[in-house]
Amino acid sequence: MGTLFAGGIFTGANPSYTAQELAYQLRDSEAALLLCHTSSIETGVQAAKMSGLDLSRVFVFDDSILDGAGTPTHGAGYWSRLVSYDLKKAELFAWPDLTGPEEWNTTLALNYSSGTTGLPKGVEVTHLNYIANTLQTSQTVQNHPDYEKRRLNSASLAYLPLYHAYGQTVYIALYFHQERTAYVMPKFDFIKMLEYSERFKVSDMNLVPPIAVALAKHPDVEKYDLSNVSFLGCGAAPLSREIAEQVENRLNKNRKDEDRLNLRQGWGMTEWVTSAYNACEGEPNANCEAMIVNEITGEEITARGPGAKGELWCRGENVMKGYWRNPKATAETLTPDGWLKSGDIAYVSEQGQFVIVDRIKELIKVKGHQVAPAELEALLLEHPAIADVAVVGMSTPDGDEAPRAFVVSQGKVDEKEVKDFVASRVVRYKHLTGGVTFVNEIPKNPSGKILRRQLKDRYKDTTSAG
Ligand code: AMP
Repeated sequence: MGTLFAGGIFTGANPSYTAQELAYQLRDSEAALLLCHTSSIETGVQAAKMSGLDLSRVFVFDDSILDGAGTPTHGAGYWSRLVSYDLKKAELFAWPDLTGPEEWNTTLALNYSSGTTGLPKGVEVTHLNYIANTLQTSQTVQNHPDYEKRRLNSASLAYLPLYHAYGQTVYIALYFHQERTAYVMPKFDFIKMLEYSERFKVSDMNLVPPIAVALAKHPDVEKYDLSNVSFLGCGAAPLSREIAEQVENRLNKNRKDEDRLNLRQGWGMTEWVTSAYNACEGEPNANCEAMIVNEITGEEITARGPGAKGELWCRGENVMKGYWRNPKATAETLTPDGWLKSGDIAYVSEQGQFVIVDRIKELIKVKGHQVAPAELEALLLEHPAIADVAVVGMSTPDGDEAPRAFVVSQGKVDEKEVKDFVASRVVRYKHLTGGVTFVNEIPKNPSGKILRRQLKDRYKDTTSAG
């Protein structure tokens, strides 16, 4: 919020990133300032050095690391230097007027996403995107007869990352708009989440699939009083109906019929600023359009009637402005008349509801986090014994995905070495937990595009190595 008030653009990064990952984002976004929490200042300083950002532009949020001389260690500055305490100067400051179309179109955040292909890119989110999405989401909630009572008694734990559209739209846009309370958890911990949910009488739970799985299966859930919960939502990756039902059954155990919870699933994208479809099937939000398109010919097939599968395209004021300084990727993802190609496969049911069934884009989702195969492939090609490589998301028994590398070697290298090579360079969820499979060649189409689906299908029942 401070960045926006100062007229800047915010881009947030995972605090567990390695310096190499953060340096990529600093370079790509051309960030002018870097603000770090104490726990990530070492990574921040290292990333600044790698990306050429002057250390005078790196700041730390916490004064506990000030050394004896009153200057923070690692060469970074204390963040209060960015704040003016001169009231005269403060009076000169005016919150920019955002009432005209030009201002609506002003970018407020760059949320990193690899989209349908390639490396992570800065998704330009505008003020209008968030205003539109907040109103769309509010509209469904405000129609509830108990809305006002619920709003006043609501409380939520904010543990979703605030560098991702899901956290931003819920805790910042929606909650500010509805004046709801959110308690920020600096770091997610399942047991603490249960403890705090009881203590702060949490009413709204916004989940991602791995947290839903823990709510369904963790033995300690019953030890906590979750009777104040009146809303359960889940998004960021697919959640099976079985897990959703297990969560519902567990939390509904001692509830009266009228208080029973229904877990509502939301589908969204960084590029589509989270939008809600109720359950895995549902309708687009207010003022949003959706259609099913043949992903090869680009022909609309929604009208063919129920069951016709194809790529889901969406249009509405919550579609991103484009990819930051990347007109090529923008043109590949947005059509001239404003449709966003989602890279997801869906169909329309007999009841006219959209049902998401598959993903055709390269993107791998691990516990709701994005893993871009192109990023890991570029990294693996730096290894001298790797001649060619493809990274694919393999399905796991608990409904998640695990990145696996298919490697064409040129010299002596084994699975452990390949895994360690990746593990020492990227954040944990990008590690090759799906293993490494050695192959003679990577299947590609005539224009050189990796045939990922072929690898996924052919090796789906195998474990790694080979
Ligand atoms: P992100 O940009 O990180 O939010 O990732 C967006 C992608 O996550 C979507 O295009 C889908 O592939 C996947 N996704 C998000 N929510 C769901 C959901 N409820 N069901 C299935 N896939 C989902």
